[in-house]
Amino acid sequence: MTPGKVWLVGAGPGDPGLLTLRGARAIAACDAIVYDRLVSAAILAMASPACEKIYVGKKAGTPSIAQGEITALLVRLAHAGKRVVRLKGGDPFVFARGGEEAADLRAAGIPFEIVPGITSALAVPAYAGIPATHRDHNTTITIATGHEDPTEAHSSLDFSKLANAKQTLVFLMAMANLPAIVAKLREHGLPDDLPVAIVRDGTKPTQETLLGTLATIVDEVARVAFEAPAVVVIGTVVNERETLRWFDTNPLFGKRVLVTRARESADEFAEKLWERGAEPLVAPAIAIGPPDDPAPARAVLERLNTYAWVAFTSQNGVDACFAGLAAANADARRFGATKVAAIGTKTAARLLERGIRADYVPEEFVAERIAVGLLERTRPGDRILIYGAQEMRPALARALREAGRPVDTIAAYQTTHVHDATLVAHAAAADVWTFTSGSTVASFVENVPHAAELARTKIVACIGPVTADAAREHGLPVHVVAGDATVDGLILALDAAHALS
Ligand code: SAH
Repeated sequence: MTPGKVWLVGAGPGDPGLLTLRGARAIAACDAIVYDRLVSAAILAMASPACEKIYVGKKAGTPSIAQGEITALLVRLAHAGKRVVRLKGGDPFVFARGGEEAADLRAAGIPFEIVPGITSALAVPAYAGIPATHRDHNTTITIATGHEDPTEAHSSLDFSKLANAKQTLVFLMAMANLPAIVAKLREHGLPDDLPVAIVRDGTKPTQETLLGTLATIVDEVARVAFEAPAVVVIGTVVNERETLRWFDTNPLFGKRVLVTRARESADEFAEKLWERGAEPLVAPAIAIGPPDDPAPARAVLERLNTYAWVAFTSQNGVDACFAGLAAANADARRFGATKVAAIGTKTAARLLERGIRADYVPEEFVAERIAVGLLERTRPGDRILIYGAQEMRPALARALREAGRPVDTIAAYQTTHVHDATLVAHAAAADVWTFTSGSTVASFVENVPHAAELARTKIVACIGPVTADAAREHGLPVHVVAGDATVDGLILALDAAHALS
């Protein structure tokens, strides 16, 4: 049996985009993840479905699992030959007991690697527009734990050193002891008007910042019942927020956005939403699978070069084609001199990944327009293959045939409706519903009872006019339609809509 190993990985402060590449690789490859509170679900979702996920953080009202038990668990898993990721919020060596766990692993003879993470101490202020250092303000930064009660004798924080207005002070875990910490700093001579920022849920769509001074902040916290987890920043760098604030001013900041598209393409959309400060609620309404009869889609690959043109209607068709070629031990040379049409820039990009530059790229699936484009590029008698979805409408093929082009349409994949309770829950929780095809709308209204009624309190956003028509046909109001029928176009349109509101 191969000996197990433990990776002590920092998950970063919350935004899944702030996980390191090495961290992501370790998570994708591991057999078990042992994780704490403050690790986001989006990061856990990067693990394989077979990966065992073990929560060892505090649950409300229960004492946290003893450190010794966590180490024993890591040792047991590693001894069983598992690749174990010990995942911690922020950085594993910043107030996270990573040093103790690594020492215990060494003592048990278990090999380990440390994958540092972006610590909340620096990233959370940064997402609030507060630089840790700034030449106009400070040359030192001190990161301290606020976990110890400074009024108790055993406290090791030296407030005579901390009380220096020329440094930035960052406290983690300080909410419970904030009044005592602030009192001590003032006692040791820090001015009453020294700026303080407290940032909770930093780097997340729920990020909140409370501003004050040493004299006011404790009352402020009580007044608005500001809660942990939060980073406390003390120093004049806090004033920079006025100019540098950026994350929580994104038009989509804090918005919960329902993503209904198929799993394969949902992640990319979700990542882009995180980057705008939105919270993606991913609940695929459709799934892409093989067609009822997969034989014709395979067989036609033998004679690809007998067509004048092959048209791909989506990335799924391209994927199906190349999966079929690979299964037949063949490659793109099967296309020979055949020209290729890709509907949509994404489809064209997918073809390019396979070494094929599309000869014609209509922007959108509007059958009449594509037909005109293909007719301009062909002569009567030229044979055309449409490699698309089983549920494809016949309009394109009909228009081409009427103009004397023999057309074969092949079902390369099919879109099926997903029936899943998360769709109902996410639909209710979301502020914005997004639809990227007519099929996402159709499945959504099948899943969600009284969708049209529920939609009255939502923003409904569609990727293009065809999807928007489908939404209206199903009784949904449409508030936002992307100008450019891509996910980027959809996000731009949502940005613009929210900037107005
Ligand atoms: N190893 C972690 C710190 C763990 S201690 C790191 O490097 O970030 C836990 C404390 O970190 C919390 O009490 C809080 O002070 C801070 N913290 C972690 N994530 C945070 C977040 N997203 N927003 C605000 N504070 C956070």
